[in-house]
Amino acid sequence: MQRILDKIKSYDKIIIHGHKRPDGDCYGAQFGLKNIIKNSFPQKEVYVVGEKSDFVDFVGQVDTISDDIYQGALSIVVDTAVKDRISDQRYTLGQEVIKIDHHIPVDDYGDLRWVDTSFPSCAQMITYFYYKFKNELKLTEEGAIALYTGIVTDTGRFRFRGVSQLTHQLAGLLIDKGVDVEYIDGKLSKETLEMIALKGYVYSNFVTAKGFVYLKMTRDIIEKYNVTDEQAASVVGLIGGIEGFPVWALFIEYPSEIRIRLRSSGPTIDKLANQYGGGGHAKAAGARLDSWEQLPQFIKDVEEVVKVYNEV
Ligand code: AMP
Repeated sequence: MQRILDKIKSYDKIIIHGHKRPDGDCYGAQFGLKNIIKNSFPQKEVYVVGEKSDFVDFVGQVDTISDDIYQGALSIVVDTAVKDRISDQRYTLGQEVIKIDHHIPVDDYGDLRWVDTSFPSCAQMITYFYYKFKNELKLTEEGAIALYTGIVTDTGRFRFRGVSQLTHQLAGLLIDKGVDVEYIDGKLSKETLEMIALKGYVYSNFVTAKGFVYLKMTRDIIEKYNVTDEQAASVVGLIGGIEGFPVWALFIEYPSEIRIRLRSSGPTIDKLANQYGGGGHAKAAGARLDSWEQLPQFIKDVEEVVKVYNEV
């Protein structure tokens, strides 16, 4: 952390990247870090780049920058374990690259890395970074909102096991900075009529295998219910926690691939995700299928993972 702070101090331009299809934690870490650097060192140019997220756009707006800005700049990539998933591959144009992440490492990219899987969110890592150096760093309410949003979204509103005393302590620090908990919850909880209808579809159409529940979110369903890809992807939690089905997944059909959002309340599933071009955490991972033809094999593989887990 000290070396990261020293690097930040030594660059005039800093460009912060996240991952493709950014979520609340990615945005929270990106905009929280930008806020800390910008307020602590106002003379520095700091940008957040990458894909946009409608879901958490209240946290900040990404910058559009030209290639020449990378000249002599420091690239910081947050919340991303796999190089291919980094949103805006121009991060390599920076003079040096720092990786800050809480996922099980897949690609060891970056000149300097701070990876700690004990953190339940990357936003908590950034908050901790601020806390460690709070005598020389500044964080405003806007940055605190970003970081708090990252913490609550990646912990399922403080429900997942990675949540610790430190998580609450740091969340408390953010509340002290002016976070309005109800404002953030209101933003994250708002529902459209279309989403309610889609949820009805999910509840009536999930499929069960041995110890595994899944739903195929095909393009025609996304179009029929008139929701964004991001909204369609958000329903993964609805089919979780069903008794006798410790693993569940949502398959989302994109034009060039089928993305898997894989979850578990029992066996670890990140190794399985690795086999299907992905990764993530022990109990929450992402992967991909090239076509629906791979689905039967994937189901068999999950069933095997569940079987081995039940035998132990
Ligand atoms: P998601 O289902 O997209 O929420 O992903 C669950 C977790 O796995 C998140 O922490 C992601 O960052 C991670 N993840 C998702 N897709 C991939 C991938 N293709 N490779 C590595 N990690 C991933």
